[in-house]
Amino acid sequence: MKYFTLDELSRSSTAEKNNIKNKPTTDDIVALTALVDNILDPARQKIGAPITVTSGYRCPQLNRLVGGSPTSQHTRGEAADLTMASGKENLQLARVIYKLGTFDQLIIENADPSVTQCQWVHVSYSRSGNRRQVLVKHKGQKGYKPYNLA
Ligand SMILES: [Zn+2]
Repeated sequence: MKYFTLDELSRSSTAEKNNIKNKPTTDDIVALTALVDNILDPARQKIGAPITVTSGYRCPQLNRLVGGSPTSQHTRGEAADLTMASGKENLQLARVIYKLGTFDQLIIENADPSVTQCQWVHVSYSRSGNRRQVLVKHKGQKGYKPYNLA
């Protein structure tokens, strides 16, 4: 854990507004640390520019409030939503994470039709095995489709 803090991985304006503590458990902290050590820090090191965590850990109450899937990896400290300074850089970040090799799910969120940029990148890391699954969701459309980043 070099470039990121537990605080920024569990901070949420929605939680603050609704008086939700959003405090990760010991298990969640172990998972968040693995996510940072295996993906976020190496990606940050490689890309050489700041990465913003827009959503990391979500307690079940917060996850419900933001409309997350009930089985979301965010509730276990296994996932983070990331942005950079522009949509093009967001997509570059997805490529860097892909090339790092180990991830469970990598989702290109609200991409343009030709997938040259996206609104944010969702990435997860599981200590019990990683699927290396890449999905895209196009802006204005519903549903996720497999995507080949190679
Ligand atoms: Zn997410």
